[in-house]
Amino acid sequence: MEIIKVNKDVCIGCGACTAIAPDTFKFNDDGYAYSDNENNILDNMEEENKNDCLDALEGCPTNAIYKEEK
Ligand code: SF4
Repeated sequence: MEIIKVNKDVCIGCGACTAIAPDTFKFNDDGYAYSDNENNILDNMEEENKNDCLDALEGCPTNAIYKEEK
């Protein structure tokens, strides 16, 4: 299965992903994004949420969002 994740070392905290796919992307206390463990499995998402996540992945200005095979 594919998990969607954020590389916090690359995230600049722009907020694009949290705006596009708020069910999956949240901000931590440091102001950087992370993907919520309960909502980051692409295969388990409703189609709309999945598309939002993939849009966020495509739109991240620093390519911090990536898919990981588990
Ligand atoms: Fe970070 Fe990318 Fe999300 Fe912006 S879109 S907050 S850079 S992960």
